[in-house]
Amino acid sequence: MNAPVQPLISARSLTKAFGPLEVLKGINFDVMPSEVKVVIGPSGSGKSTLLRCCNGLEVADGGSLTICGQTLVDNGRLMPETALNTLRTQVGMVFQSFNLFPHLSVLDNITVAPRELRGLSKAAAEAAAHELLAKVGLAAKADAYPAMLSGGQKQRVAIARALAMQPQVMLFDEPTSALDPELVGEVLQVMKDLAREGMTLMVVTHEMGCAREGADTVAVLDQGVVLEVGPPEQIFNNPQHPRTREFLQAVVTRA
Ligand code: ADP
Ligand code: MG
Repeated sequence: MNAPVQPLISARSLTKAFGPLEVLKGINFDVMPSEVKVVIGPSGSGKSTLLRCCNGLEVADGGSLTICGQTLVDNGRLMPETALNTLRTQVGMVFQSFNLFPHLSVLDNITVAPRELRGLSKAAAEAAAHELLAKVGLAAKADAYPAMLSGGQKQRVAIARALAMQPQVMLFDEPTSALDPELVGEVLQVMKDLAREGMTLMVVTHEMGCAREGADTVAVLDQGVVLEVGPPEQIFNNPQHPRTREFLQAVVTRA
């Protein structure tokens, strides 16, 4: 018999407060290998906080969180710093605002972490970076600086930079929210390609089209709890929770 497949991300009763503000109120959440998990929900519901907990950018203060087989948070206690630094290299993160280093070329943006953290030689890191740039459709932009790129191009560089660490899972926090509408598609396409290759993705988005078409599973977060989880057809066509219905109606009305 095969061993049961373990989730790559598993949160149990995860809590996080900022002072008196309880932002995550007991989150149970799994992301399976090669799954595309899309998290939707109202602004302020805790989506970014949940994502940031998954690579230790925020420290959950209760419950447990296991990532890539390692226990990041156990009963509210964070793993030791050295283990955390190793784990961070296995979890790629892409932000709404790209967060590229403005003073570095595209190539250097992509090679700095693999050289410093994975110990790659300059030549090896650059060869890998050129391959990744080709993969995200930016082979010609290696020597450009971020200021010379469109938002869609910057975000594709940010994705290539995260991939250069060979992560086991990629976290995306509203990767298309800062983009002009006509540039959204090129970033979503790169994410679709990653999913097709079997990469595990956890994506927070306001793009309901992306959630409907690209997700294996959609989780709806509201006021720090997971309201419901299911395949996109269920969440969008037959939501179980009245607050999911309200949220979806509000989003559709706005669009
Ligand atoms: P979402 O991504 O769903 O919009 P967030 O996770 O960013 O929600 O935020 C959830 C709540 O936590 C919000 O009320 C926000 O203001 C608050 N919050 C987020 N980060 C911090 C922080 N570093 N300090 C204090 N409050 C924060
Ligand atoms: Mg957010």
